[in-house]
Amino acid sequence: MSNYRIHGANFPSRALISKKAFVHNLRLARKWAKDAEIMAVIKADGYGHGAVEVGAWALGEGVNWLAVAQLGEAIELRKALNRRGRMLALIAEPGAPFRQALELGIDLSVSASWALDEIVAAAIETGIPARVHLEVDTGMSRAGFLLSGLKEIMPQFAAYVRGGLIRPVGLWSHLACADDPQSEVTARQTAVFEEAREILREAGITVEFCHLAASGGILWHPQTHYSMVRPGCILYGISPEPKIATAEELGLRAVMKLEADVVSVRDVPAGTGVSYGHTAVLGETTRLATVPLGYADGIPRHASNTAEVVTGRRRCKVVGRICMDQFVIEAPQAVPGDTVTVFGDAKDAVPTADDWGTVCDTIGYEIVCRLGTRVPRYYVD
Ligand SMILES: *Cc1c(COP(=O)(O)O)cnc(C)c1O
Repeated sequence: MSNYRIHGANFPSRALISKKAFVHNLRLARKWAKDAEIMAVIKADGYGHGAVEVGAWALGEGVNWLAVAQLGEAIELRKALNRRGRMLALIAEPGAPFRQALELGIDLSVSASWALDEIVAAAIETGIPARVHLEVDTGMSRAGFLLSGLKEIMPQFAAYVRGGLIRPVGLWSHLACADDPQSEVTARQTAVFEEAREILREAGITVEFCHLAASGGILWHPQTHYSMVRPGCILYGISPEPKIATAEELGLRAVMKLEADVVSVRDVPAGTGVSYGHTAVLGETTRLATVPLGYADGIPRHASNTAEVVTGRRRCKVVGRICMDQFVIEAPQAVPGDTVTVFGDAKDAVPTADDWGTVCDTIGYEIVCRLGTRVPRYYVD
């Protein structure tokens, strides 16, 4: 168990972020992706780990492509990473700063005809051809052109390409059920993606990359890899579906470890109610320790009375409701100042973010992404 202490840290909790673990996971992802190019997904501040850091680590490992969700994220990150590599913004809203995006060399997704119009207008205004990835909706029903819509815009799109306003870089889509190796949806989506490729071919459009697979597709649907894949969660040591394979079983390492210092310890008698609503009442005399993390820090309130943490090598249960800034655990040997590991790597015999996801009826992704901004991140190796 680590007794990691950060001197001068003015906060009683911390996320310790491991570059070594990230690089290890990235290399595994590369192995799984075989010949497909890697586009490392670093949206939502690198799933809560710090997008500037993880983006730089990926580039340092020779990854040439980064993806974020919103164009606003791309603009910030593109600057912070000194425009190294290529970056795709998966989403943009009407009126988004497309000119600035082109000036910064950001690749843009075209998911609807209004986006094509605005991006072409920006290309004309700046004199910079727009590098675009056409998004097709193959069955996720979230965004992108349906096949009919794709057919409709093709003549106009091809004209923009011929006119030098658009560089067609990619054709992409997203899988809805890739975390279920049995699901037939993935095969159906892949078939629709093939039809989309055919529509481009017929229009005489050649793209550099076709990309469909995120982590689930990379792991469980090799036929969806095409020429580029978009790993996210696996890079952070999170399984797309721990019921099928845990991160440990996949050989992934947790990049984030969340720790806090015990701030209060009390021995309280049987019959005592704990925390808001007294949802827990102690059956016997119990040592309670208070952990200074709460739902304001992203600890789900759904973890009340269910999740576990580790302190002094012991698994300790959360007792009572999670509060905004703290929660209470049953910790027979704790003393103030002890380190509590909330989640980390399974190999260290601590709960994982996926474990927290499971007990909170959500996914590990949400646990790390929602870690509050006030929790300091430390880059430890
Ligand atoms: C978030 C996202 C990814 C990464 O997904 P993971 O399951 O974390 O690998 C890839 N592509 C798109 C379009 C996404 O929104």
